[in-house]
Amino acid sequence: MDDHIIRATVDEGSVRVFIADTTNLVNEALKIHKTSPIPTVALGRMLTAGSIMGAMLKNDTDILTLNIRGDGPLKGITVTADSRSRVKGYVYEPIVETFLKESGKLDLGKAIGFGTFTVIKDLGLKEPVSGQIPIISGEIADDLTYYFAKSEQVPSSVALSILLDKGGFVKKAGGFIIQLMPNASDDMVSYLENKLAHLPSLTSMLNEEKSPKEILNILFENKDIKIHDIIPTSYYCNCSREKVEKALISVGINELEDILKTDKKANLHCHFCNKDYEFNEEDLNNLIIKLKN
Ligand SMILES: [Zn+2]
Repeated sequence: MDDHIIRATVDEGSVRVFIADTTNLVNEALKIHKTSPIPTVALGRMLTAGSIMGAMLKNDTDILTLNIRGDGPLKGITVTADSRSRVKGYVYEPIVETFLKESGKLDLGKAIGFGTFTVIKDLGLKEPVSGQIPIISGEIADDLTYYFAKSEQVPSSVALSILLDKGGFVKKAGGFIIQLMPNASDDMVSYLENKLAHLPSLTSMLNEEKSPKEILNILFENKDIKIHDIIPTSYYCNCSREKVEKALISVGINELEDILKTDKKANLHCHFCNKDYEFNEEDLNNLIIKLKN
């Protein structure tokens, strides 16, 4: 099945649940950025989180940005999502050494290092709303759990998992975010605590090819589940020559004339899809004329 997110509530809306299958979009990111294993997994987890948090946005024009910046060799990741769960992102250092933990798992924390995790929501207000926390583990799911508790005061459980095959390709990718609303009963809270402590790991559920719907049923087997939406999600870059041109114009006439004189051309690169936009002498001249009028 194509990538999608299930949006559900349990117990009359006292728990909200988002479960995503993002296998294709994480593969798309790998194809675009040609990342080594740790950046593939780190970017994949950020994209999966972004696609779910995009689905949490209320208005069509809302935009979410997730940014992690650390002092490790991976340096950082930026991911952007719109309210239709279309995501794009890039990692600042696409190839890094494959650090392993003693358990044999990839050590994302070591590659990312210490730094900050920032969530920015552009909700069409004067200023975007943002929340920032220090990186907790660099595993991303823990960092997000902490972010939700600290910045949004919503107790949440976040799981993100990217399974790679031996060749470094994405076998399966997905994640879930479970959030307790203020009206959640004590019974529900202890049910979830117990459930999450004894649940097979998301990695093993994905390995068994469990779909988001099956995972939902495993999480809340005998509970009153209501599925509200099945939201398609995908990797999507909305850059265009027109947008790049606007960015180029925004540097101003003097700067443009300078570029024209010294380089006679301008190459602009989109980090999200790796497309290059070239503006030759004539293009630059036309932009300057446009600006002067
Ligand atoms: Zn692009």
